[in-house]
This record gives sequence, structure tokens and C-alpha cells, in this order.
Amino acid sequence: MARFDYHLHPDFSIDASGTVREFCEAALARGLVDICFTTHCDTNSAHAAEDAWVSVGGKVRPLSEPWLPDYLAEIEAARRTFAARGLRVRAGLEVDFFPGAARALDALLAGVPLDFVLGSVHRVEGYALSDRAGVRAWLERFGPRDALVRYYDLVGEAAGSSLFDCIGHLDIYRRSAGLAGEEQLALPGVMDAVTRALAALVQSGTGLEINTRGTYRAGAAHVSPGPVLLRLAAAAGVPLLTLGSDAHQPRDVGLGLDLGIAAACAAGFRVQHTFEGRRPQAQPLSAETAGDAVARSR
Ligand SMILES: [Zn+2]
Ligand SMILES: [Zn+2]
Repeated sequence: MARFDYHLHPDFSIDASGTVREFCEAALARGLVDICFTTHCDTNSAHAAEDAWVSVGGKVRPLSEPWLPDYLAEIEAARRTFAARGLRVRAGLEVDFFPGAARALDALLAGVPLDFVLGSVHRVEGYALSDRAGVRAWLERFGPRDALVRYYDLVGEAAGSSLFDCIGHLDIYRRSAGLAGEEQLALPGVMDAVTRALAALVQSGTGLEINTRGTYRAGAAHVSPGPVLLRLAAAAGVPLLTLGSDAHQPRDVGLGLDLGIAAACAAGFRVQHTFEGRRPQAQPLSAETAGDAVARSR
């Protein structure tokens, strides 16, 4: 049932390689039927020098220059080509969320014909949670308890903005820091922040992503979020769920999705979602939950 991959970085992202078409070919080879491209869109001016770049036709450009029309046109061309071969191709973005970003992002996303917008918290107080040195410095600077409370409160703010369909790779700090367990959640105050974040997701109708990048990258071997967090999310009633490999090259497309599905089922989720024009469609997680997806899509 691992047939949908909703987190793919083609070579528009400067840290990725492989064209939209090459990703589509890889998806077909893995038996996927519906994929969504989610190029990075990092607009935080405080980190523009590192993050705010995009590559178009092999040329690196500032993200502030017009590039979305080229991106959307390339995906539209692939959508037409690959529809006949049984692959639905969606246009999305992975948008970085940071404090105070809501108004600028609202303007940026308004009127852009996207299928899906994934919102991700990549930095807290400037520290990059997606790299090992960044996450270590962050934990050292604030201490694990304060660091995590700040992270989950920012996730709650992202959810509360209602800008996103789903929030990406919750607990990304575990992958970067090489933390196998979820003991950090038991630190005083952290669970309260988690509960607030999950409530914000439910209240705003925002979903979560299960990100499988940690399953095929060295040193982690787990999906994000971890099983404890995922169970809490399912119990809280988080309404939408996508799965994504976060592939940055065609050969990683679809990797780990079976583990993600197993994690979703174990946590108590019954369906996953695909998106078209920002509208979710419930899909079965497994053969056993196929009936649930049909019932919920009515
Ligand atoms: Zn990300
Ligand atoms: Zn990503």
C-alpha cells in the first residue's frame, strides 16, 4: 500500500539532484501512483544567505526572484506525460515556518495553484535542526527542556497559522541528533508543549507528515515522528496524514514508506491522504483500512 510519496525535492532545491522527470521515472519503478514535489521555500531573511536559494535550469537564483512559474510549468508537463503511465504528479512546496512569518507566507502562497503545502520548522532561534552541529548547539544553548518547549510551541504556531496542509517531520531534532528514543518528551513541560501543538493541529484542521528519511540515512533508522508522538497525535485526533520519503535524489524516492505505514497503523491512524488543489482525499493505509478510506471520502 506504499503508493503515495508526498515529500520530494527535485533539483529546484539547491541541496537536491535529479529532474522532475527523473523523479517521476523512479516513482513509477517503485510502483507509486501519486507523488507530490515539495521544493524548499525558505523565506526567513535572517538566514537568506544560507537558505533562500533555488535552482532553475541549473542556475542558482535568489528565492526572491520569480521561479514558481518555471517550477509549476515543469511539474505540469510531467503531470501530462506521466498521467498516461498511471502516475499522478502533484505540485507542492515545503515552506519553512519561523516566528512572524505568517503574513509574508500568506502573501507568497496566495493565488499560487498548488496541490499541497507542507509547513516545516527547520530552525529554532536560528539553530538549524536539520543538521547535527546545529541541533547539538541548540540543545546546549537552551538545555533540552527549554529547547524542546520552544520547538513544539513554534510547531503549534505553524499549525495555528492555517497556512499548511500538513506539518513536516515533527521531532526532526531526533534524526539530526541521532536520538533513538523519545525520552525527551518526559522532560518537565515538554509534554504540555506537545499537547498544545497537537491541539493547534486539530483545531486548525492541519495534518501531520510521517517522514521516512531517517529510515534510509545513516545513524537514525526511524521515522519522524517517533511512535510515542505518533500515538499521541492519533489519539488527539490529528485529522490528516501524509507520508513522504523526503528524497533529495531519484534513487531515494519511496524509500521507507512501508515502515511509515506500519508506524501509522501501529499508532492508530486508519487512513492517509493525498491532495489535489489543497483538498485532501482519504486513502487506505493498508488493505484492512481500505473501507475506512472509502467511508471518509464520501
Ligand atoms: Zn524539511
Ligand atoms: Zn524536505
